[in-house]
Formats: sequence, structure tokens, C-alpha cells
Amino acid sequence: MAITIYRCECKQELALDDTMCPACGRKDFPLPNVRRALDPIETGALKARYKSAYAASRDQGTTRLLAALLKTASGSKAVKAMGIATLHVNLLNKDLIKSFYRRGSRINTQDPHSLSRETSDTWANPGYHHLLVQAALSANELGCRWYGSCHLVFRSESIASRASVFWENPRTLFAKVSSNDALSAPPGHRATWENRSRLAIAKLHDRIQADTRCESFSALFIEPRIDPTSDFIEVQIYGDVAISAVEKITICKETMDDTDLESIDVVVRKLAGLKIESQVIDAYP
Ligand SMILES: [Zn+2]
Repeated sequence: MAITIYRCECKQELALDDTMCPACGRKDFPLPNVRRALDPIETGALKARYKSAYAASRDQGTTRLLAALLKTASGSKAVKAMGIATLHVNLLNKDLIKSFYRRGSRINTQDPHSLSRETSDTWANPGYHHLLVQAALSANELGCRWYGSCHLVFRSESIASRASVFWENPRTLFAKVSSNDALSAPPGHRATWENRSRLAIAKLHDRIQADTRCESFSALFIEPRIDPTSDFIEVQIYGDVAISAVEKITICKETMDDTDLESIDVVVRKLAGLKIESQVIDAYP
């Protein structure tokens, strides 16, 4: 489905990846991923899903649980998981946290998940996917365990104006859609940061039963399996993220090897020097 053409105040049509009007030089419009999430076709499709989630919940008698889920989702955070070696190098070099594509990562030709990554990322965010830092929407300050043992919680105020949320890993959605949607991601699968709770409700409502306990909500947001196919809501942040935008880091020892374990102390000391709160846990809750 074609999305709405976005025009600058001067009436110039903006390309999907424009961050400045090529006619008048204005920059006072939303960044590309946020602009896409604000497209009336996207917001209309998400609103319909959100309303039908509440209708289904009324039928099932789970509206109180859904209200509790909405409250949890409203306070959810963007959490980026990475290995401790990557975090250590980042801290040593005072690097910015960059997109997968901007930090010189290599596509592994032997790994089908790696191989299909760029295709589906381009499909979801054509023209600017390589500038997005990816994280997962979390209700318990832990990110997707597959990506590493260090879980960086981004300050909401540092990312709110440039983050959007996407239904799941684009790779997973891309694999599910019909050939009609192969050129452009179907609407209703993304939201602005401000509207992330609506997307969470639309996606997660049918995983709630009458006997679901609120304590189990965090496992609905991010599937706790350590696997490349584990499910999560992807947070897509436009541009690099400074380490000062990180409010807390949890380091989990559970799956670390000896080399990783040895670097914990030095990383924790570095974080203390930067006044970033950290905690080390032996195992995942
Ligand atoms: Zn203009």
C-alpha cells in the first residue's frame, strides 16, 4: 500500500529519507522513521488494531488485565543488548552506539538470519535503515538475550523524538507477509515512541488469558529464549546514541565465558567513572 506523500510547509515533496527540505532548507519536520510512523495510513491501521484488541478483551473478560498491560507498556524502555567485549571497546574508545550497518558489522553468509537481515531492514525502512540503532521494547530493563549479556537501558527523553517502534524483528514480519506486501511493509506495524503502548496492546493482547499474572508481562514483550528467532518489539532509533543517553546497564553472567567474566570488573569501574548505574546478576530472572 502506498504511503502518504509528506510535504514541507513550502509544498516541496520530501523523499522517504530526507531530513532537510531540498527546496527551502527547513529541518523542522519529524525524522524519517518517525514521519513514517505518523503517516495517516499507518496510524489508522494501528488504531483499528488497538480498538479490536479492546473489543476482543471485553469478550474474554480480560479488560482489567489489558489496562494493566497498557500501564506497563506506557513505562516500557528501549533496551539494547550487546556482548561485553563490544561494550568494553565502546567505553574504551568513547564511541557512540551506532547502527549495525555503521559499526562495520559483517553479514555472515553462512547464517540465514544474518543473510536476510539487510533485505528486511531495507523493506521496513527504505532509504535510511542503515542509520537506525536497534533495541527492544522492554518491561523489565532487560533486552533480547540473543544479542548479548549486557543490557543498556536508554533514557526515554534522549530518544523520544527520534525513536519509533516496529511490531517485531522486520526479518520475522517479512517472512510472513504475502507477495503483495513484498515491496513495502504493510501498515499498522509501527508507532511513534509516544504511541508505543498502543502497538504493544495491539500485538500482545491475545497472549493474555484470564489467569495471566502481571508479573509475566515482561516475557510477553521480549521472549526470554536465547535464540535468533526470539520475539520482541523492535525500537528503531534514528542516528547514533551517546553513552550518556544510557541510564542503566545490567550485566548477566549466565551465558558468559571465562574471558567475558574477566572483563566485568573493569567495565563496571568504567561505568562508575561515567556515573552510569550498573548491576551484575548471576542469572536471568
Ligand atoms: Zn521546504
